[in-house]
Amino acid sequence: MKHVFFLLLLLPAACHAPLPGRWEDLPPRAFDPPPYARFLRGLTICLDPGHGGHADRKGYKRGPTGFREAVMNWRVARFLQGFLEKAGAKVVLTRHGDEAVTLQRRSRIALEAGADIFLSLHHNAINGKPSVNYTTIWYHAGPDYSPAGLDAARCLFFGITHELRLSQVAEVPLHSDYLMYPGSGFGVLRHIRGKIPAVLCESSFFTNPAEEKRLKDPAYNEREAWGIFLGLARWALGGFPSARILGRGPHGPSEILRVRLLSGLEKRKSWALKSPLILASSIQPFLDGKRLERWTFEAEKGLLLLTPPKEGWSPGRHTLRVEFMNIFKNSPPRPTLTWTCRPAS
Ligand SMILES: [Zn+2]
Repeated sequence: MKHVFFLLLLLPAACHAPLPGRWEDLPPRAFDPPPYARFLRGLTICLDPGHGGHADRKGYKRGPTGFREAVMNWRVARFLQGFLEKAGAKVVLTRHGDEAVTLQRRSRIALEAGADIFLSLHHNAINGKPSVNYTTIWYHAGPDYSPAGLDAARCLFFGITHELRLSQVAEVPLHSDYLMYPGSGFGVLRHIRGKIPAVLCESSFFTNPAEEKRLKDPAYNEREAWGIFLGLARWALGGFPSARILGRGPHGPSEILRVRLLSGLEKRKSWALKSPLILASSIQPFLDGKRLERWTFEAEKGLLLLTPPKEGWSPGRHTLRVEFMNIFKNSPPRPTLTWTCRPAS
């Protein structure tokens, strides 16, 4: 007992590794993947290093000493690719060097690859305000357009801002691209058409002279990639909810459409699986773009019973979008399903 007491006295001193005095001081690099990085395994991640080509354009997307944004974006993408592949994710790049690729083409590459997320990598600029330097993450249109995109954006923000140790913080760091281009937003995000989560990271400002200097250092680019990697891993840890149409029935005066809601956590090993994993209060079904008012949810079976209005039963193709959240508050990355209603025989 005496020995234990003596050890406890010593413990605080032994645990106190010297801490940096200021938040901005970068801690030593340590790229040890946290255990939750394994939830990235099997995902397909489309990395879109912003810009490229146009190296001859004077002053185009350059820092105060001329360092090009296209280069910093590319370096971050390549480091990130390495981290993700090591964690078992598949990476698709939208460019393969210093080349110009259209915005539409970049989005198409992500969709054709069946990517689980489209991540556009950029660094920010502001004219006449060289002191500005913070992280913002951009999503398309309004917050209800792609709730899953916001899930990823939130995790990415914390991953990047923590790793870069910027001294400034945007007080609302998640930005709609309609702030920049009202009604249209960024081409790369718009062309994804809400089919998968799509976000654009403006990790820091290359128009800030001190930040440009840091961005020139590949070790700093790697650190940023690590922050993004951690953000993606945290998002993946929360699981990806999904919905599956089981079918129509039973026949009766008010027909119902049966839909299974999955939390994305079912296959995990956890005592928590004994509790409901879906927030019933978050369920919002839309049939052909219209919100359905009549539905019930059987939580223990994860069964959503929809009673669509008459036009919802018209023969042909319908779209069903079910927004909901699991207990991690992650929303379905692919909330829209199609369903063909066959005429009653
Ligand atoms: Zn850019």
